[in-house]
Amino acid sequence: MHFALENELDLIRQTAAEFATSELEPNAARWDAEERFPREAIAKAAELGFLGMTVPEAYGGSELGNLALCVVLEELNRACASTGVTVSVHNSLVCTPLAKFGTEAQKQKFLPGLASGEILGAYSLTEPQAGSDAANQQTFAERRGDEYVINGTKIWVTSGDEAGLVLLYARTDRAERSKGISAFLVDRRDPRSAGLRIGTKEKKMGIRGSSTVELVCDDLRVPADHVLGKPGDGFKIALDTLDGGRIGIASQAVGIGRACLEASIKYSKERQQFGKAIGDFQAIQWKLADMATELDAARLLVHRAAWLRDRGERCTAQAAMAKLFASKAANRAADEAVQIHGGAGYTTDFPVERFFRDARITEIYEGATDIQRLVIARSLLG
Ligand SMILES: Cc1cc2nc3c(=O)[nH]c(=O)nc-3n(C[C@H](O)[C@H](O)[C@H](O)COP(=O)(O)OP(=O)(O)OC[C@H]3O[C@@H](n4cnc5c(N)ncnc54)[C@H](O)[C@@H]3O)c2cc1C
Repeated sequence: MHFALENELDLIRQTAAEFATSELEPNAARWDAEERFPREAIAKAAELGFLGMTVPEAYGGSELGNLALCVVLEELNRACASTGVTVSVHNSLVCTPLAKFGTEAQKQKFLPGLASGEILGAYSLTEPQAGSDAANQQTFAERRGDEYVINGTKIWVTSGDEAGLVLLYARTDRAERSKGISAFLVDRRDPRSAGLRIGTKEKKMGIRGSSTVELVCDDLRVPADHVLGKPGDGFKIALDTLDGGRIGIASQAVGIGRACLEASIKYSKERQQFGKAIGDFQAIQWKLADMATELDAARLLVHRAAWLRDRGERCTAQAAMAKLFASKAANRAADEAVQIHGGAGYTTDFPVERFFRDARITEIYEGATDIQRLVIARSLLG
């Protein structure tokens, strides 16, 4: 059993850390304030190979896997959670299911472009009436000859307006519930995708550089050979994909939590009250100790889940545990970080204000906290 990163992983971590420090950290506050998608940063992340980490080498990826992806995501999210979620969704919610369930033709068509960053991926499962109850899909895909015609509204699609490929879920059978859902590869460059319209862009509390949009399907035409897996397999694919996605969001939480801890350590040494650094007060030391301990525990849960997934083992409960614990730990760390900064932490002069807002989403997307508990409890009770 090893608790240290092996050489190759540590090199990848260092590359990600240097990129995050030089390219993300100086810009993250501005992207947040301007709600600007970090397009240049994503292009540079692509050059470093961070968009093809779950893509097999045969299709231009590095095939480094989920553990390496977690290590990279922690570093990116430590500096900019908007960039972090964009990279996470692209790798774990789009590249992974395509590599796992795609036909040879589908993989050849999309994976090289996804791995190189020529196109970005988006994952569109949520609908107004299908949030936690994701099986309640109302968007309908009707088979007409050699294509499907899709109508309905999808919401909260991360990178939905930036993506070249949208993995979009729709109902193909009204008589079934979860077994009546199919997954479609929607190529936004294809003229037949003209029926996919970008709707409202969300104004968000945090991760404001990440783009979150509504997608309206108005007679969206998708070739029948762009169904991922078999018709009716969509929900199974969605759930398997979310196991990996939750590990990615848990890594995001660890990264944001670490940013909170590092900022708090720095401020505790600098800020003087009662004639000494506030870090000399035991009350502050205990906060730092708890933050560090919880983040270490969270990271171990994340790495275990990623390691299991890389071995091809089922990790549904472990991924849910990692997300549940890491997202809670990140929010506790963000809360304490603001407290340690006092009034300064409540202003945009210090980054902990942004970390506090960014941490909040990790308890909501890719399954809210109580849904993770539900998944874990199901695995316990059978
Ligand atoms: C910024 C952002 C980005 C997103 N990106 C994407 C994306 O790229 N693709 C995508 O498909 N979706 C995306 N989502 C959607 C996200 O996954 C959902 O918001 C999430 O799954 C929760 O669904 P909901 O918001 O409808 O909440 P609801 O399902 O309405 O839940 C509301 C509350 O009720 C609780 N609850 C619901 N059911 C139960 C239950 N059975 N037991 C106990 N408690 C329950 C929940 O835990 C929650 O606290 C995004 C959301 C946001 C905010």
